[in-house]
Amino acid sequence: MFIQHDQHSRESAGKGERAMQFDGGSYGRVLENLHDGLYVVDKERIIRYWNKAAERISGFRAAEVLGTSCADSILTHVDGSGRSLCRGMCPLAMTMADGKDREAEVYLHHKAGHRVPVSVRTSPLTDEDGRVIGGIELFADLSNQRASEQRIKELEEMALLDHLTRLANRRGMEKEMLVRFEEQKRFGVPFGVLFMDIDHFKQFNDTYGHDVGDRVLQFVSETLVKNARPFDVIGRWGGEEFLGIIRNVRLRQLENIGNRLRVLVEHSYLRIAQEDLHVTLSMGGTPTRSDESLETLLKRADTLLYQSKRGGRNRLTVG
Ligand code: GH3
Ligand code: MG
Ligand code: MG
Repeated sequence: MFIQHDQHSRESAGKGERAMQFDGGSYGRVLENLHDGLYVVDKERIIRYWNKAAERISGFRAAEVLGTSCADSILTHVDGSGRSLCRGMCPLAMTMADGKDREAEVYLHHKAGHRVPVSVRTSPLTDEDGRVIGGIELFADLSNQRASEQRIKELEEMALLDHLTRLANRRGMEKEMLVRFEEQKRFGVPFGVLFMDIDHFKQFNDTYGHDVGDRVLQFVSETLVKNARPFDVIGRWGGEEFLGIIRNVRLRQLENIGNRLRVLVEHSYLRIAQEDLHVTLSMGGTPTRSDESLETLLKRADTLLYQSKRGGRNRLTVG
C-alpha cells in the first residue's frame, strides 16, 4: 500500500523500468518521525526512502542517499570482526533473496567517519501478488551515547574535558583510575586499561594537513566511545593517544573488547574528495594486579603498546 510506480521515472531506475516511489502513504508522518532509522530499497537496492532518524543516526541527509545503491560506497556496514556486509552477506539483500525477515547487529559508517553500532531488522517489500519488489531496513542506534552527554557536561565543569574530542582529558582519566582502584580495593572489582596510539599519524598530518588530522582524532574518539560499554571510559591521554578504562574484566575479555575497538577504528574512515582516509591503532592492554599503583599499571600498558608498534602496528598486545 506504500508503493507507487512512477511512470515519469526518477533518476536512477534501470533502463525501461519504472522507478519505485515510496513516501509512506498514509503512514508517511509516522515513518518520518520514527525514533529508529528506516530506509527502503527497490529491487536493484537503490535507496528510495530515508527517514529523519536515518539522517540523525548516519549523518547522511536523504538528498545525499536517495537514488544511490545501498551496495555502493555510502553506508558500508561491517560486522563485529570488520567484514564488509554490503557486497556479500548484507542482511537486506539476503532478505530480498529469500523473503525472510532478519535481525542483525552491525556497525554503520557515519558521515563524520566513525562507526555506529546498530541493531538492524530487515523485511521484504512485496507487491499485491507477493513478489519481492524491494526491502525495508529498520535500524536502532545502540551506541553508548546518552550516558556520555551528561558526562561531557560534568567533565566540562571540572575542566577535565578535552575540547577537540569531547573525551575526558589526561587529568580526568587519572582521577577516574583512582576511583577504579578504590572500587577494586573495597569491592574486589577488577579493571583493565587499554593504551592506544594512532599509527604513523605524523605522516598522516604531513600528507593531509592538521585540520584533517583533527577530524580523524574526532572520528576515532567517536568510534571508541560509541562502541565501548556504557560503564567503560575512554579518554584522550595526549596528542594521538587514547586510554580506555575497562571495568570488571580479566585478560581475555579485555583482549576481546580491545580487538573489537581496534577493528572498528580500522574500518572507520573519512571521505574527502573521493578518497577514504583511514588510520589504525596500536594498543597495549593489561588488567590490574593486586597491590599496584597507577604508575606501574600505565608503565606495563605502555610497554605492551610499544611491543604492538614493534610487531608491525594495528595490533593489540595484552599481558
Ligand atoms: P607511530 O606509529 O610510531 O605512533 O608514529 P606517529 O607518527 O603516530 O608518532 P609520533 O609520536 O612521531 O607523532 C605523533 C603525531 O601526532 C605528531 C603530531 O603531528 C600528531 N598530533 C598530536 N596531536 C595532534 C592534534 O591535536 N591534532 C593533529 N592533527 N595531530 C596531532
Ligand atoms: Mg604517540
Ligand atoms: Mg602514533
